[in-house]
Amino acid sequence: MSKRDYYETLGISKSAEEKEIKKAYKKLAMKFHPDRTQGDKEKEETFKEIKEAYEILKDDQKRAAYDQYGHAAFEQGGHGGGGGGFGQDFGDIFGDIFGGGGGRGRQRQQRGSDLRYNVELNLEDAVKGKSLEIKVPTFVSCEPCDGSGAKKGTSAKTCSTCHGHGQVQMRQGLFAVQQTCPTCSGKGKVIASPCPSCRGQGRVEKTKTLSVKIPPGVDTGDRIRLSGEGEAGEHGALAGDLYVQVNVRDHEIFVRDENHLYCEVPISFVTAALGGEIEVPTLGGKVKLKVPKETQTGKMFRLRGKGVKSVRSSTTGDLMCKVVLETPVNLSGDQSDLLRQLEEKMGKSSKKHSPKETGFFDGVKKFFDDLKS
Ligand SMILES: [Zn+2]
Ligand SMILES: [Zn+2]
Repeated sequence: MSKRDYYETLGISKSAEEKEIKKAYKKLAMKFHPDRTQGDKEKEETFKEIKEAYEILKDDQKRAAYDQYGHAAFEQGGHGGGGGGFGQDFGDIFGDIFGGGGGRGRQRQQRGSDLRYNVELNLEDAVKGKSLEIKVPTFVSCEPCDGSGAKKGTSAKTCSTCHGHGQVQMRQGLFAVQQTCPTCSGKGKVIASPCPSCRGQGRVEKTKTLSVKIPPGVDTGDRIRLSGEGEAGEHGALAGDLYVQVNVRDHEIFVRDENHLYCEVPISFVTAALGGEIEVPTLGGKVKLKVPKETQTGKMFRLRGKGVKSVRSSTTGDLMCKVVLETPVNLSGDQSDLLRQLEEKMGKSSKKHSPKETGFFDGVKKFFDDLKS
């Protein structure tokens, strides 16, 4: 059990004035003073509490420290009370030590660690989504002791050194330094008879099988958070989260750039010259694409809505299809002859038939003419 609030002990409000504090103390002291309670141990303890509360609250400086930091303000080497002789600016010192007053209370009940699990998906699964089962080595709450770490039928006791705060105060010259309690290692509790299953840790190692729903549209770098599926904390503390980290493997045909997909499709030079219809792969199957006549290699065709619907937006990207003119190989003698005939008919470097080549050689000529002049 942790220490009672000083105001509560005296039965007064937080805004009580000095007079009220004194009055409350007197009344309680009459009732619980050892002279009047004939060796009743419980009442003696209560009296000690009352006295301690009174001694802190009657002193303006100590009261201010208590108001700000609670009991932690007066922990000294494990012995409650005392705590006299604070410097004038103890408020600032405490501010630094506690990191802005957050050092009090139950923070030592540290949450279990977060875990990361890497999954590799192919592009199709990343785009369409997938349910998978993963096996994660982790810590889970110990069943026999229900995570408490104490043997069944027993329970952890509040640490008597730090009175459950997990921290003790040491004085070093002018400074009061908070240190982790050596008795309980900062846990605030001591387990007298540890649970044999978890050796008092409240958690045990186990490989957990989880099913994960990968939403459609994920990409490399996306993380899926499974709240509370990380490691169980020690002594019944909250579990961490599990992050499933997505990595999408390279695809043989498509390259993804956010919502858009890119691919290269080879076309014959006849189709490129005369135009025609080609088949283009998409993630949903093949589609037909009309190639206009006189298409040059490298031309990009945009197939709207054939890209990816991202997990973050409602719009679907496009498929960018780049046609690449393929040079024919393994030509027979006849075929080669036909090509030569064609070339002769068109005439070498004819401006009419080769717009790029003409432009290129004009550029080269100009380059050399400029050099000469
Ligand atoms: Zn302790
Ligand atoms: Zn256990």
